[in-house]
Amino acid sequence: MRKPFIAANWKMNKTISETQEFIRKFIPEVKDSSDVTIAIAPPFTSLPAAAAMIKDTGIILAAQNLFYEEKGAYTGEISPLMLVDIGCTYVIIGHSERRQYFHETDDTVNKKIKAAKKAGLGVIFCMGESLEEREAGKTFEILQRETEKGLEGVDPESIVIAYEPIWAIGTGKTATTEQAQEAHAYIREKLRVSYGNKADELCIIYGGSITPDNVDSIMACRDVDGALVGGASLKFESFSRIVNFRR
Ligand code: PEP
Repeated sequence: MRKPFIAANWKMNKTISETQEFIRKFIPEVKDSSDVTIAIAPPFTSLPAAAAMIKDTGIILAAQNLFYEEKGAYTGEISPLMLVDIGCTYVIIGHSERRQYFHETDDTVNKKIKAAKKAGLGVIFCMGESLEEREAGKTFEILQRETEKGLEGVDPESIVIAYEPIWAIGTGKTATTEQAQEAHAYIREKLRVSYGNKADELCIIYGGSITPDNVDSIMACRDVDGALVGGASLKFESFSRIVNFRR
């Protein structure tokens, strides 16, 4: 039985005081949500404040990125060990915005996943097709490539896969339940090739314009084990409703 995993990706939003205000209001809303794993990924600058507030709540602190080297002359970068040091236990890797705006490739993603795991971090590994790729009938080809290359040489322990069709991110356009289920089932089949029956234990979560209004139907899909939430995770009311989804 896979425990649902719901993560907030705040992207480049919220100052330290806004982070503290959110978490102060959010904690009481989720005190009875022990049947769901909840993660929050604030920007780097808010990680220490968030770490202090969520200590002992069971909420996971995640970072939105890392660099794959342990230390050295990499101006502006943050290493896996620095994230562990600050209290992170997960990190988001392979988000389409990182691939699109910062030119991260499958190879970079694979290096980052390996570095994160070496440091003991769990990984929320994002993948998904663009609109052009979907319309050209290439969705499965993309998912196969991203799964194989991203996870090459990686053991599946503490890996959460996030299927995020790029055309659904921040657009208000959610995948239909059929599209989500089909993609998740396909990814699980691919995982089975590398990981055998362990593929059935891995959480595959959906991301792309999740809101309080659509979370229940998406979460009802057999192979959807959670959600990665951008815009709707910025307000504590909507994110609270999402983590308290009803199946
Ligand atoms: C995301 O960026 O991971 C995401 C799913 O964003 P949104 O929920 O805003 O579509």
